[in-house]
Amino acid sequence: MSLENKTVVITGAAMGIGRAAALCCAKAGGRTVLADIEEAGLKETFGDIHAAGGEASCQVVDVSDARQVEALMAGAVEDFGRIDALINCAGILEGAYVPVDELDEAVWQRVMDVNLKGSFLTCKYAAAVMKEQQKGVIVLLSSGAGVRGGSSSVAYGTSKGAVHGQAVVLESQLSPFGIRVHAVCPGGIATPMKLRNIAQAAESQGESAEEALKQAEAYLGDPEGVGRILAFLVSDDADHLRQTVFTR
Ligand code: NAD
Repeated sequence: MSLENKTVVITGAAMGIGRAAALCCAKAGGRTVLADIEEAGLKETFGDIHAAGGEASCQVVDVSDARQVEALMAGAVEDFGRIDALINCAGILEGAYVPVDELDEAVWQRVMDVNLKGSFLTCKYAAAVMKEQQKGVIVLLSSGAGVRGGSSSVAYGTSKGAVHGQAVVLESQLSPFGIRVHAVCPGGIATPMKLRNIAQAAESQGESAEEALKQAEAYLGDPEGVGRILAFLVSDDADHLRQTVFTR
């Protein structure tokens, strides 16, 4: 599996699954365009790729802002001439353990803006470039939370179900242009988002967060495990794969 001569745009690259995906894509020889709202982590990922001899660029981007996303894709084309793949990992989990009748409308909207609108905007501006090329791969991070059920947050679970729907709709719209679209649904993965969620769950039950985090080590997956799958998915070796991929 090689990503030689491929340009991969990765959002959410400052930490967690996005960072792991960026490192795996770079290891496979891809040029990575790293984006995140969190500058310090973004620079760290960029620095690690650079230090290992990889080619990368990075940009602070809020995926819910159309102009910033448009500039991200334009910058990728300016720096590397094309966009072979988009892996959209940027996401937030808010409103966990809040019953629907108590959920704040502003929290709902924020989750939708980042998770769902962010997926729409990154697809919108990446697809424009990929259609010109008549080739590309788009991977959206959904979740079992919104596809199989069982989320701690009404807003998060709903947004992830909608992201899955977006991937299914876009697959048929974009496949005539040689663009493959996948939704990836990771299981529980040890990232800052998931670890925060586990600590919060314990605290909301009056239990020890520290103990819950220790127990979680036994069942959570490693971000690199998903990162490797994401890197494979955007490679030509995955060109016979279609639709949704579930991971542990
Ligand atoms: P994380 O919180 O560890 O990383 C998310 C990244 O997104 C962070 O670097 C954050 O700064 C960035 N981000 C947040 N808002 C942003 C914005 N407006 N613009 C740009 N970047 C922004 O989370 P993670 O666990 O690595 O999650 C990555 C993706 O995988 C998310 O979409 C999440 O919903 C999904 N997911 C995670 C799990 C899991 O168990 N960790 C399970 C299923 C799905």
